[in-house]
Amino acid sequence: MAEMMPAAVYVGDGQMAVQDLPVPVAGPGEVLVEVAQCGICGSDMHLVLEGYARPGTVLGHEWAGTVVASGDGVTGWEPGARVVSNPSAGCGRCRPCRRGRPSVCLERDPPDYLSFGGAFCRYVAVRADRLLRIPDTLTTRAAALTEPTAIAVHTVNLAQPETDDRVLITGAGPVGLLVLSVLLARGVTDVTVSEPSALRRARAAAIGAAAVISPDDLGAAPLGRPVDEPFAVAFECSGHAGASQAALDQLDFAGTLVFVGTGREMPRINHNRMIVLELTAIGAYNYDDDGFGPALALLASGALPTDLLIEPDDVPLDGVIDAMQRLARGEIPGKVMVRPQEVP
Ligand SMILES: [Zn+2]
Ligand SMILES: [Zn+2]
Repeated sequence: MAEMMPAAVYVGDGQMAVQDLPVPVAGPGEVLVEVAQCGICGSDMHLVLEGYARPGTVLGHEWAGTVVASGDGVTGWEPGARVVSNPSAGCGRCRPCRRGRPSVCLERDPPDYLSFGGAFCRYVAVRADRLLRIPDTLTTRAAALTEPTAIAVHTVNLAQPETDDRVLITGAGPVGLLVLSVLLARGVTDVTVSEPSALRRARAAAIGAAAVISPDDLGAAPLGRPVDEPFAVAFECSGHAGASQAALDQLDFAGTLVFVGTGREMPRINHNRMIVLELTAIGAYNYDDDGFGPALALLASGALPTDLLIEPDDVPLDGVIDAMQRLARGEIPGKVMVRPQEVP
């Protein structure tokens, strides 16, 4: 009889249930990791709340944990080692890889956005050659922010803001707050955050936004020229069509809009404005070609306010769906960590 573990499983119709699944076995070259914390990501929420996920799927990819066993051929990962799992690097040869964008490597397996072996469960088996050791200065819990931090780092690197640029962030959920934190850590301090939820505005202000505003405060753009106080770079982190359109309207000549937040409704893009102001729009998906390393180092350096980025109370496996619904309603500003050891 296989050993069993509790897991939060997507069961269809926007619902999840805690079920017992077999504990995975560490195959050759793999280690078995006990998940300490796994963050709830916006993509998990889209898959669950909008019902895209395949029933039977365990979601959750923002995890950190502790090695408990090793498969054949694994050396150097003792039980108790605290780890995160680095994503696979790209092939290094194709056109996107040569441009430092391995997330869209042409040689990767076809992406499956509907199901993946997630970590809203007690144990995961992962390849040992992908592990990164969590530095002593960083708690395992805070290290569970490595994946979304790597996204924020990649996003900022794609946009390449100068330290004296005026920057706009639309949407102060967990991703927007992380992008804000990475910008501040890089010395980009003139950052305005636009967000409808007062709770999230307050969190952005606490983290260090130069200004926090409601989306209604963003003025309409005059025809063919910038607004009075334009931005050099805008990071669209909300996934809302209206926010994308507003962010584009707020850009200065040669400004850059980065799409980070996904959403069901598609924005209307004013191409005339893009032409006359020579605007650039880019999408940011996943990580730089050095993967999680720089994000882990940034977290370990203490430069990011992890106590403001992570909500104080972790949730057990049977609390995931409630936390997702509250996050979707904007009632929670920061990252919610799931703690799978807490058996409901
Ligand atoms: Zn994520
Ligand atoms: Zn490649």
